[in-house]
Amino acid sequence: MRTFEVERAIQSCVKCTICYKSLFEICPIYEEFGIPPFSPPGIFYLADGIASRYVKMSPETATVPFACNMCGACSKRCISGDLFNYDYPTELIEGIREQFVEAGELPEKITEALTNFATSGNAWRLPNSKRVEWEKDSRVTVPDYAKEQNEYLLFIGDASLIEETHIMPKAIAKLLRKGGVDFGTLKEGEVDSGNEARELGESGLFEELARVNIETFKRLQVKKIITISPHDYNTFCNDYPKLGMKFEKVYHYTEIISDLIKEGKIEISGEIPKTVTFEDPCHLGRYNGIYEAPREIIKAIPGVKFVEMQRNFDESFCCGGGGGRMWYDPDTYRKQRISDIRVRHAKEAGADIIATACPYCLSMLKGAGNLGDISVKDVGELAMESMSMSQ
Ligand code: SF4
Ligand code: SF4
Repeated sequence: MRTFEVERAIQSCVKCTICYKSLFEICPIYEEFGIPPFSPPGIFYLADGIASRYVKMSPETATVPFACNMCGACSKRCISGDLFNYDYPTELIEGIREQFVEAGELPEKITEALTNFATSGNAWRLPNSKRVEWEKDSRVTVPDYAKEQNEYLLFIGDASLIEETHIMPKAIAKLLRKGGVDFGTLKEGEVDSGNEARELGESGLFEELARVNIETFKRLQVKKIITISPHDYNTFCNDYPKLGMKFEKVYHYTEIISDLIKEGKIEISGEIPKTVTFEDPCHLGRYNGIYEAPREIIKAIPGVKFVEMQRNFDESFCCGGGGGRMWYDPDTYRKQRISDIRVRHAKEAGADIIATACPYCLSMLKGAGNLGDISVKDVGELAMESMSMSQ
């Protein structure tokens, strides 16, 4: 967004508070920090101060817009949203971040993540060999899409880079293989989809990453793509078409696994006698409307008692890892951690297991400080456990 567009759009906020605390508190950062600067109108007050030159952009003032998880809850509620042909206020917050990026006034961790995206194709500056490490003890042969031109490209994404989420590609590859799905991966040739770079306000870097991917997808004639991360799903569905990449179909892995179960192509008859709840990943549910497929998988597992937490479906909470918060943790002003709040919701629902379908959710919730006896698992992992017991 251009500076004048940001300056004009922030005036449309009437500071009604509906997007963060009316009826009940909906904005996760407002709950996290407990003070109004950490809310959409709080971010706009800051941007207004910058436009009027009362406030200076600095790594400290950047804390406010960069604390946002880009969960999208405010955009579902905002009464001024209809005035815009974009997600107001979420995309406006992205525009405000862009101003900080252009000024180079960023928290150190954000600068580091963006530099790493640009130089290494991932936020952790890991070598590309890391992208295939999960395969080592997976006991599944994973075809190389570039050589075999399979029907589906399985895009592994950050699940291969975060150690504790390796279980996701392992389980998903096993389920797909068992279900007879013809898939391959890009192995070490994968590059970040760019969703987080865009949400961090680096639209130029997003386009660079997207163009590398698009060149690969077009060269390999990719038509059907399955993503593990809802963040990759989101950008492939909503941003890549604007850059000329139209897939025949983009799937989140839960949609494919759910269909395989319904069609009887994979048998999940092993009992898991546990109470399980589901954490809706923001970029899967609220952004893209996929609510049922992961729930169908969980409910198909014998022995499972499924319970809903408060704050689900389009009013779902957040794990605390979206919008770049995987790499940036402004804990100085914090009252409570978002992941701890979510675990508390799961405890109140009586769950033994929090299931989710996103590597960021899995990593953030596993890192909560109040887990106690609750475990956190991927939906595919649960299905794989049940399938393994069936054999
Ligand atoms: S996107 Fe989510 S975290 Fe960010 S301001 Fe809106 S409700 Fe709060
Ligand atoms: S709901 Fe919209 S108009 Fe009201 S305070 Fe939030 S951003 Fe501003």
